[in-house]
Amino acid sequence: MAKKRKSKHVGDPKCESHFGQMYAAVMGSCKGCGNPTASSAFQLCSVCAKKRGKCQVCLKKL
Ligand SMILES: [Zn+2]
Ligand SMILES: [Zn+2]
Repeated sequence: MAKKRKSKHVGDPKCESHFGQMYAAVMGSCKGCGNPTASSAFQLCSVCAKKRGKCQVCLKKL
């Protein structure tokens, strides 16, 4: 029996409406720490979003 892998928000802090979507591969900058984000559509880098428990796109609480 194969172990089920949890894919929910792992390494990808996004709300349900933003999770799994495609984003422009243009780097943006995190409003929290100033580090580059994976996409210019993101407000926060994944580290800050995880720390705050928010979607990195719309800042909705996760
Ligand atoms: Zn950050
Ligand atoms: Zn969102």
